[in-house]
Amino acid sequence: MKLFVANWKMHKTRGPARDFAAELGRSIGDGIAGAELVLAPAFTALDAARDERGRWRLACQNVAAETEGAFTGEVSAAMAADAGCRYAIVGHSERRRLFGEDGPVLAKKIERCREAGMTPIYCIGETAEERDASLTAITLVRQLDALIADAPSRPLVVAYEPVWAIGAGRSATPADCAAARVHIAEILSPRQSLRILYGGSVTPENARELLEISRMDGLLIGGASLSAASFEAIARA
Ligand code: PEP
Repeated sequence: MKLFVANWKMHKTRGPARDFAAELGRSIGDGIAGAELVLAPAFTALDAARDERGRWRLACQNVAAETEGAFTGEVSAAMAADAGCRYAIVGHSERRRLFGEDGPVLAKKIERCREAGMTPIYCIGETAEERDASLTAITLVRQLDALIADAPSRPLVVAYEPVWAIGAGRSATPADCAAARVHIAEILSPRQSLRILYGGSVTPENARELLEISRMDGLLIGGASLSAASFEAIARA
């Protein structure tokens, strides 16, 4: 079963989220064989994006590092789980770059997800500068350090998202993805339930090749997940 996660980022109020869900529901019928679908809307649109028939699951795009308390503006993992999230995206490169999130904070967020019963979708990936300096492997090792205290028996999703490929219109090559996949699996071995996704400028046109050659367990999709038709086309690929 391949996993396809739609990261809507800061897009879609409740109306468009409802329209997306209605369109996706109409076109996939009973679901897409071999594909697990996950929508990650903004917190405010979780309810609107929900599928009562369970053909897709919900993820949040972030959770607070703390459990509860005086943290104005934060949403806890328990709150996200209570709102219906099965998964939580943690450590997206936009959170790392724009909000200064790093290893220790992300380790706490992963722990909060576990306490709340959510599976983290932990995002890692090198910048263009790190890639040019041949630091990709070291960067991935460093970012995976946030999982050191996470019990290896827990189900985990890791999304390899090279920063230079996100929203760039240029994805990594299937060979890049295959190499990253092997490297990540090696570092995290022997995890019992690990799925490794690729993310970065995935489209209906490149999805099949990326999946086939890299042997990734699924895809994390930003821009191309904003339309139900293109998200569906990627999942059918
Ligand atoms: C993302 O934001 O996680 C992402 C993969 O974006 P895009 O597909 O637009 O590159």
